[in-house]
Amino acid sequence: MSTWYPEADLVIQHPKIYTVAITCDEVKEGKTDFPIIEDGGVAAKDGKVIAVGTATDVQQFIGEHTEVIDASGKILTPGFVECHMHCKWTGEQMLNLDFNGVTSRQAILDAVAEKAANTPDGEWIEGDGWNELIWEDSQEVITRRELDGLLYENGALQPMLKAKPALTDAQHLESLVLIGQRLNSFGITSAIDANLNYKQMHIYNEARKQGKLTYRGNLMFYLDPQFGSFEDNLRRLEEMDCVTGFGDEMLKLNGCKVTLDGITAAFTAAMSRREYRQRPGFYGDTIYTQEEIDALVCKATELGWQFGIHTIGDASEDRALHAFQEANKIRPVKELRHYLIHYQLPYEDQWPIMKELGVGVCLQPTLVSQMGEEPLFWPEQVERFQSPGLMFKNGILAGGSSDSPVVSPSPMLGMYYAVTRLDETTGKTLSKGDESKVTPIQALIMWTKNAAFFSHDDDKMGSVEVGSFADMCLFDNDFIAGNVEDYRTTKVATTILGGEVMYER
Ligand SMILES: [Zn+2]
Repeated sequence: MSTWYPEADLVIQHPKIYTVAITCDEVKEGKTDFPIIEDGGVAAKDGKVIAVGTATDVQQFIGEHTEVIDASGKILTPGFVECHMHCKWTGEQMLNLDFNGVTSRQAILDAVAEKAANTPDGEWIEGDGWNELIWEDSQEVITRRELDGLLYENGALQPMLKAKPALTDAQHLESLVLIGQRLNSFGITSAIDANLNYKQMHIYNEARKQGKLTYRGNLMFYLDPQFGSFEDNLRRLEEMDCVTGFGDEMLKLNGCKVTLDGITAAFTAAMSRREYRQRPGFYGDTIYTQEEIDALVCKATELGWQFGIHTIGDASEDRALHAFQEANKIRPVKELRHYLIHYQLPYEDQWPIMKELGVGVCLQPTLVSQMGEEPLFWPEQVERFQSPGLMFKNGILAGGSSDSPVVSPSPMLGMYYAVTRLDETTGKTLSKGDESKVTPIQALIMWTKNAAFFSHDDDKMGSVEVGSFADMCLFDNDFIAGNVEDYRTTKVATTILGGEVMYER
């Protein structure tokens, strides 16, 4: 008697597999261990994982048409999930020339000339990120005669931005292709794209139809004060015919996003427990009043929208949580998974509310480590500021993210900073104790299972288990068990989305 096995589309044999087979509820209860399989094997069919075990266990799924990857000496993780960044915006920037880190004046002139030669007449060429202080040949600013105009400062930029032609549909599509390639090169297979407008959402749909979308897009609709008053935004909510969850496995609506305060460096974050360290007596304020944010969240909740709120200062966090409590009277917000983005200043008295309502947080360790904001905070705030460790210890779900284009979307870098709490601008560690840091395993959970929670995908994404999406990454060395500095040098070798290889280094 013989047993019949389905023929897999893809079989990967011999990697060490970090399955991340753990539930979000278990993570909240403090559990962090999951099966790690030496000499493992994974079989995938129709985009899903159909078997996980040892290399021998999956042998029987290999058929005539199966693609077989020998991953001896490698590790395999779930595809990385990003829970707060601006994919479309980052992609639009990638259409421009990027002069970040360019150390020669001439190289910039050459790049502009080359791009000009390949750009149709009348189309704009944009470039940014240059720093004349690092040019080795000459630090003299490039002149109008050499380029064609050079505008500094906002006053000069505004008229230019108004005159700038809108992106063509082809450029819009290209921006999604470019960001898709970059995300795949970092092992990212799913992302929440915040701050989108209708046009950008339509472009996503078009990219999906044309088979150009290479990551699972979860789109956040932006209730921007720029689009009108608070009443206008309330009305816009009513106008949308679909809500959170509308879409399919590659593209769906996530939540509404509101920016409730600004940033600490600009004194636009809203503080309450302590005044600004560098401005005695000053606390800042939120963009919406308590009544307004309550009304927006309640209306969205009533309609079935998930809600994510940008909160940097503790006053902003408290107001967002108050709004969630009000909304909870209309329907249980735990089901909708309302969340806080950034959650810069965590305080103990907020945690019982967050646990009761199931409010998670999207953190950006790279942002914290590279922005140099440490001197702006009181010492006890620095210790805990955007701390992933405190969240794990106190039963609050923390997802990994970057806020790209502000910093690199690399999850490897994000995990490195979550583990070390290193402030890259000072070389010092933000947290003296271990309480604010996470272990490498917890960092992996942040960019897989936990991040998948925010797009309601944790039952089918963020782990390598039978039935989950066949989204996976392969690495040449085991940075998780290795030296912590390995995070800086290890690069993704292969990224697989739905059983298909999307990226190979
Ligand atoms: Zn953001």
